[in-house]
Amino acid sequence: MSLALVSKINIVSIDLPLQRPIVSAVGRYGKWPFIITEITLDNGIVGNSYICPYLVNFTDSIERVIRELFRLFENQPLAPAAFYEVGMRRLSLLGRSGIALYALAALDIAFWDASAKDADRPLCEHLGGTLAGVKAYNSGGLWLIAPEQLAQEARDLRNEGDFSSLKLRLGRKTLDQDLRAIEAVRSQMNADDDLLCDFNQVLSFTEALRRLKDLDNQGLYWFEEPIPYHEFRNYTELRQHLSTPLILGENFHGIDHATLSLELKSSDAIMPDLMRIGGVSGWIKTAALAEAYKKPLSSHLYHEVSAHLMRVTPTADYLEWMNWVDPLLVEPYRIKDGHLVIPERPGVGLQFNRDVIDRYRVKR
Ligand SMILES: [Mg+2]
Repeated sequence: MSLALVSKINIVSIDLPLQRPIVSAVGRYGKWPFIITEITLDNGIVGNSYICPYLVNFTDSIERVIRELFRLFENQPLAPAAFYEVGMRRLSLLGRSGIALYALAALDIAFWDASAKDADRPLCEHLGGTLAGVKAYNSGGLWLIAPEQLAQEARDLRNEGDFSSLKLRLGRKTLDQDLRAIEAVRSQMNADDDLLCDFNQVLSFTEALRRLKDLDNQGLYWFEEPIPYHEFRNYTELRQHLSTPLILGENFHGIDHATLSLELKSSDAIMPDLMRIGGVSGWIKTAALAEAYKKPLSSHLYHEVSAHLMRVTPTADYLEWMNWVDPLLVEPYRIKDGHLVIPERPGVGLQFNRDVIDRYRVKR
């Protein structure tokens, strides 16, 4: 049976307002940029993807890299895993990371979506897994806001999908402020619910030594990115002083970073980001690494594609649920009893809302 040929590409960038602004150690954001990539096969099937490259002013450059990389695959038989290898070899001249890798990920995800649609299967089944709910936590709030606001927000977040697990941002000016924030959120949770926390890289190594030791008895599920993400050796050292698991990985740029971090034993668990890890193909390789090193793997953003991938990740732990994309989707994924429900639709099954795209399209 011959494979369908990759025939056309369409790309659009959007700057979408957020329901709850991000107030984190890395910045304040009221909007969030998306690049949507659509690939059409010669049999009419359309595969799509979205990536969120953080800085809207760079979407133009990334779109250009996507178009340039696409020329490698135009009129070729659709073979996502082989395309990834070709793309990574091409990127070696530019560096296997950064916006060049984001562009390859945008294509890779759309290719896999098209491939699963061509097989008329949900992506997780196309990859050899089965459909089932995926354990998730609500990550869509609890930023560095006043402790008085946190209790109400924790209640709201729980009610968005019967969540028992939430993530709180920490790394306020003083230990006391962090403790008050934990207390406020905990007041809305049951004793055995999981409270995760994220420092968004705000502490220096020495600050982290002090702060994390003081928070180590709080029963938090994990400490996420307390120090700058690339300080792998400092993470290794920090781990030796703590009993709460350390996690990092949303800033791994491709499998090279994931491999280095695991070799250096810099965390107890990892959390790759679908875009930065290199799309579906990059994720599958990283999931195999996590299995080899016996480390739990959680996801970062992109809950739809990540949920499919968690179904074929041997050490899968938590799915991050952040529904920023929902206004863009005709039929957003649903949450039930704290689990993401993967819809029984071919591919990833995302259809974008054209009116919303037109309203928030980035003007050049
Ligand atoms: Mg994080």
